[in-house]
Amino acid sequence: MKQSILFATQNPNKVREINQLLPSFLEVIPLQAAGITEELPETQHTLEGNALQKARYAAARWEGPVFAEDTGLEVDALGGEPGVFTARYAGPQRNAQDNMAKLLRELHAHRDRSAQFRTVIALIRGEREHLFEGVVRGRIAEAPSGSGGFGYDPLFIPEGHRETFAEMESQAKNAMSHRGRALRKLVEFLKNHH
Ligand code: IMP
Repeated sequence: MKQSILFATQNPNKVREINQLLPSFLEVIPLQAAGITEELPETQHTLEGNALQKARYAAARWEGPVFAEDTGLEVDALGGEPGVFTARYAGPQRNAQDNMAKLLRELHAHRDRSAQFRTVIALIRGEREHLFEGVVRGRIAEAPSGSGGFGYDPLFIPEGHRETFAEMESQAKNAMSHRGRALRKLVEFLKNHH
């Protein structure tokens, strides 16, 4: 039986990637269907907190199941930063070029460029809340490269590879990405608990 679930995000890049990963039994409903056009609140101090906050906001305005995700880039030499501040690392303008430039500046003096992307998906169905996590380890390149993907993709080289996410086909990124891993856990859960 087909299941429908509202995806609480305003980010078209996330919608595109999630849609590329959906199995046939699952249909994702855009946030606009719930009449939500305003920015979703994300004022918590963790990815888990923000994912839950966005999902709860949408769930209060929608009858059926809802999920949201929050993603952070966690750089080892920076003690896990920018983490929950990933989107607005270089300021409230949330600009990917500015963010990448700041990251390269901050890492300039460090030898260790290892990092990870981490996605937390929060699912709300009825009274119950569930969290699913996806992590991909890798390292930060010396300079941006590639034009695919979004955000910090031109700087992130996943472990075992030589190219950045932005240099890969979207299927290759999805197969190993933080978001792909978290989404596959969500899909598995929905398959087994419908
Ligand atoms: P948020 O999850 O909407 O708070 O966004 C977190 C930040 O991480 C934004 O700056 C995004 O551009 C960035 N980001 C999220 N997912 C990815 C990704 O898959 N690749 C590169 N950057 C990402």
